[in-house]
Amino acid sequence: MKKRPLIPHETALSLVLKNVSMVGAETVGLLNAAGRVLRKNVKADRSLPPFNRSAMDGYAVKSSDFKNGRANLVCFGVLKAGNEWKGKVTTGMCVKIMTGAPVPSGADAVVMVEKSGVSGEMVHLNDPGVKPWSNIHKKGADTDKGAALIKPGTLLAPGHMAVAASVGAAKLSVSRVIKVAVVASGTELISVSRKPKPSQIRDSNSPFLISRLKGISWVKGTFMGIVRDEPRRFKAILKKAIRENDVVLITGGVSMGDADYTPIVLEELKVKNVFHKASIKPGKPIWFGVTGKKAVFGLPGNPVSVAVTFSEFVKPAFKRMAGISDPAPRKLILPLSEGIRKKHDRKEFRIAAFTNGGGSVAAIKHQGSGDFVSASKSDGVIVIPSDRAEIKAGETVEFHPWEL
Ligand code: AMP
Ligand code: MG
Repeated sequence: MKKRPLIPHETALSLVLKNVSMVGAETVGLLNAAGRVLRKNVKADRSLPPFNRSAMDGYAVKSSDFKNGRANLVCFGVLKAGNEWKGKVTTGMCVKIMTGAPVPSGADAVVMVEKSGVSGEMVHLNDPGVKPWSNIHKKGADTDKGAALIKPGTLLAPGHMAVAASVGAAKLSVSRVIKVAVVASGTELISVSRKPKPSQIRDSNSPFLISRLKGISWVKGTFMGIVRDEPRRFKAILKKAIRENDVVLITGGVSMGDADYTPIVLEELKVKNVFHKASIKPGKPIWFGVTGKKAVFGLPGNPVSVAVTFSEFVKPAFKRMAGISDPAPRKLILPLSEGIRKKHDRKEFRIAAFTNGGGSVAAIKHQGSGDFVSASKSDGVIVIPSDRAEIKAGETVEFHPWEL
């Protein structure tokens, strides 16, 4: 095989994003749309607020009735939220009004109940701050009727649910759930419930990946099992995984070892290789390919490499497939609380944890990419640019949190 130069991280990521396909849309009820990605605009079916709404419990008044912040007015009744006042407020008159009720016509301000005194039918108001529209949340102040309030490509968060409910969007068009298979490869691997022989290790990548997938609301993960480094069985499992899913995540078997069958088996299955290996640490042997609209990632078996390549390539792919507008990993710019060094010219993703309650980050000392015990204490990775050999304490760094 001819030796190709390693592609930079940015090139690898853009190849992933360019080669994955967006999944179809489906219509779901409002309560099932949270955590999914919107595909069609949600428009305001009415102005918000839909009427001039009292923001206080108090009195609806005409601000022009006030002299030096004072007025003595006749109160004509009580208006509670959910009711309408048919008449008009005229000079010398007021209506007691509760928060959320529509301000009667003729009134242009609400004076808080705390600034009132009552004697018989008369209400004495004293509010030097009164002016037109005080304590009124005006009709259309938040949005006009017809405006597109939530755009396609938005990952629907609780705040969006409130907006959608308020404009009558009982059903929403969202990207269908992305189906993801997880396959662990390696003859040394056994599942958690079995007793290991001295040369065996327990599969930790699959529980890790399945849990990561559980934390992503718009995908559904399925564990397809552990396969030995033996092409026949491996091929059969991968064939089924590809048939039944949109994305297949394989861990292990992508390096240059004698038992590394992942690339060979995938090529036999006609999965087109888009790239193999990138100039990153850890995760250098990563393999990515597509077949039709399906994507296959061969992630290196080392657990820290799995964590890094999942966040740097796989999750952005899920975002793009669902139609999320910005698929890149979330970047935080934070000061480094302890200096770090590196000795190679690849871009490095160094496992790190928040310090000072999240105001800064520090790298975690670890024994290389097999050390998942140290990695379990991390919150994400510090990105060390390829051309940097040292970053000093106090300098800011780019930090990619695992969870975003
Ligand atoms: P490989 O990429 O297959 O060469 O594996 C690299 C290292 O990761 C080896 O030490 C493997 O034993 C280890 N490894 C591979 N797959 C897993 C897994 N599913 N769980 C834990 N460690 C693994
Ligand atoms: Mg292996």
